[in-house]
Amino acid sequence: MRRPAPDRGRTLLGPALQLIHTGQAPTRSALTGALDVTRATAGAVTGELEALGLITVDSRPAGGGRGRPSHRLALAEDGPVVIAAQIHADGVSVSLAALGGQLLEPLHLPLPAATDPVRLLRAVAEAGAGLARGSRRRCLGIGLALPNPVTEPDGTALAALHFGWPSGTPVADLFAEEIRKADLGPKARTAFPSAIANDANLAALAEHRHGAGRGSRHLLLVTSGHRGVGGALVIDGRLHTGSAGLALEVGHLTVDPQGRPCPCGNRGCLNSETDPDALFAAAALTPDPALPLFGQARELARATDPAARAAVDHVVDRLGLGLAGLANILNPDRIVLSGLHLDLLAAAPERLAAVVAERCLWGRSGRVPIVPAQVRHAGLVGAAELAWEPYLVDPQAVAEV
Ligand SMILES: [Zn+2]
Repeated sequence: MRRPAPDRGRTLLGPALQLIHTGQAPTRSALTGALDVTRATAGAVTGELEALGLITVDSRPAGGGRGRPSHRLALAEDGPVVIAAQIHADGVSVSLAALGGQLLEPLHLPLPAATDPVRLLRAVAEAGAGLARGSRRRCLGIGLALPNPVTEPDGTALAALHFGWPSGTPVADLFAEEIRKADLGPKARTAFPSAIANDANLAALAEHRHGAGRGSRHLLLVTSGHRGVGGALVIDGRLHTGSAGLALEVGHLTVDPQGRPCPCGNRGCLNSETDPDALFAAAALTPDPALPLFGQARELARATDPAARAAVDHVVDRLGLGLAGLANILNPDRIVLSGLHLDLLAAAPERLAAVVAERCLWGRSGRVPIVPAQVRHAGLVGAAELAWEPYLVDPQAVAEV
């Protein structure tokens, strides 16, 4: 008979909460199997998570199916929350977020008039604090997604071109300072952790845990939002961020040496060949400057007239070259596309798969599934994952002040 070691229960709390958080353990028997423990151990672990106010255990056995009935596990409806925030090129989003990848009424705000680092981060901190004060649920931390590379472990922003922030701006420290000054209300955790990360990395984490990347072991995400192209890799559930947080800057992979100029100084980067501007250029059209560029590009990708189709094919071919290069280097078992790339995939799935397969000549790389992203507001959901991270590692931290 297996006997848990004295602290085995505590070390299992994090893995158990992660399984319930990601929907992989809806019952206690599923949890028992996934953790490979005895029923008694699983019972002790779920009892502890329930006592921490994180889950509920419904002791009425789940009906139906064959085999022994099992207790149902659910995330506590009145459990704690975190604040998720995202700075986009054209606005700020904030939301409270429960476990389970669930955003509670996200707010989308215009950018404040001043976008220098301190004032923009203060606006984010104050918007998030307002949500925490207005909630009856205890708030445990905040995560922020940024549209630029973020170094690890010091948390500085590099190439923050959207706002002209100096490279090396210490965003993590500045944001922590603004959070310290913000009025989070009496129910917030006193030592209130804050964390920041790149938005594509966080979107990949969100897709892996709650969306199109579920169950994959080597997940590559490639995305194009407002301008430029981002990417991220999740290996066995963990983001691969490289030695200093800067891995997977896939945007500057060359896909056409004679192509369009890129802000990095080179020509024909994936970044400048497959983003909304590139699609308009391929169609020889000019977007309406009074309307958001991203929405117009999505519409163009869905258009069925011959000129639009030709432009989509041109950009899809370049995207395929980039994905093939990445697949050959990284050998992912799934590629998730989001932003404009999701629309390009929808417009020409066979063409894209063919370009990738043609250049991936061995193994299964050429047949790697290329699928559309599923998580709505994935950057924001990923920012919530970032805020939850300390508690997913050690759920007992919830009980600390
Ligand atoms: Zn470039």
